[in-house]
Amino acid sequence: MVDLKGQYEKIKDTVNYSILEVLDTTAFINGPEVQTFQKELEEYLDVKHVIPCANGTDALQIAMMGLGLKPGDEVITADFTFAATVEVIALLQLTPVLVDVEPDTFNIDPEAIKKAITPKTKAIVPVHLFGQTANMDAIMEIAEEHKLFVIEDNAQAIGANYHFKDGSSKKAGAIGHAASTSFFPSKNLGCYGDGGAIFTNDDELAHTIRGIVNHGMYERYHHDVVGVNSRLDSIQAAVLRAKLPNLNKYNKARQEAAKKYTEAFRGVAGVTVPYTEGKDDTHVYHQYTLKITNGKRDALAKHLSEKGIPFGIYYPIPLHSQKAYKDERYNEADFPVTNQLVQEVISLPMHTELDDEQIDYITGTIKEFLNQ
Ligand SMILES: *Cc1c(COP(=O)(O)O)cnc(C)c1O
Repeated sequence: MVDLKGQYEKIKDTVNYSILEVLDTTAFINGPEVQTFQKELEEYLDVKHVIPCANGTDALQIAMMGLGLKPGDEVITADFTFAATVEVIALLQLTPVLVDVEPDTFNIDPEAIKKAITPKTKAIVPVHLFGQTANMDAIMEIAEEHKLFVIEDNAQAIGANYHFKDGSSKKAGAIGHAASTSFFPSKNLGCYGDGGAIFTNDDELAHTIRGIVNHGMYERYHHDVVGVNSRLDSIQAAVLRAKLPNLNKYNKARQEAAKKYTEAFRGVAGVTVPYTEGKDDTHVYHQYTLKITNGKRDALAKHLSEKGIPFGIYYPIPLHSQKAYKDERYNEADFPVTNQLVQEVISLPMHTELDDEQIDYITGTIKEFLNQ
């Protein structure tokens, strides 16, 4: 699905040198590499504060703690996504409220958000799924009207741009009250271990969060709030510093590969290619995800396995049907899109090193199978 080795080979000298430099200075935790990376990412995203932490799941949890969400507060998020989002809501004893997504973008449906709002609702967590920005115009409008926080889960869409109705644009993750991201190796900006970060434009929230990530300390050995221990280490920051200048190029390579896939599937019955809204830069293709609409998704998956072509089914089970998150509050009739998507989606290999020959082989194999 990804080719981390091929990507590493091209930046090997820079990465190796940076890692050796960290070893030489022995500033393994909170070293200068971490602080410099933080500044460089703030600049790239045009966001006031980046607070690095240990992984993308922590980032979500810390953002919710920083915003002061309390047990019983309701948090609305998408039913069709990775479990980390709903997991941290539940861990903090907040009440997850899962809602359906849009059939074309796979992102949280603003109409479903509106219907789910109660007097206990405190926050909305849109996930920019598979690399495509959610409908932030509508989401920010709803949030403003009901005085809700918006936490963007930007683990899959770093570098994507959102274009507002008024013609302005911002980077995904720079729009809500806070955002989280993950630097897991296979993400669009991945390190060589675990890593994550929280973003915000709010000075006070940034200050609160800087204490939370460090055991609730604002002054050494004075613990003012209950915090956690969540840090990005200097070696990972060094890797990220070597990769950040390439992020636009990496995302461009993904967009080019996506274009070739989409071109190859033009007119093929039973296949729906990823939908984007006009502008090329709103989708950074963390995944290239097809809908197989003729009931043959599972047969295709089996065929790809036999041909040695990697694929992923993201995600095979709606969150509201997962054992850990089942709840009698949920009504199947409220999730028609997610319930259908879990039967239709299949993600193809997507990374920065895909070449024409690989794309031709993958698309050719799929077309041949579907035309039988
Ligand atoms: C990867 C991911 C996370 C979690 O990130 P980790 O660094 O693995 O903890 C959270 N949300 C989404 C949508 C993700 O894709």
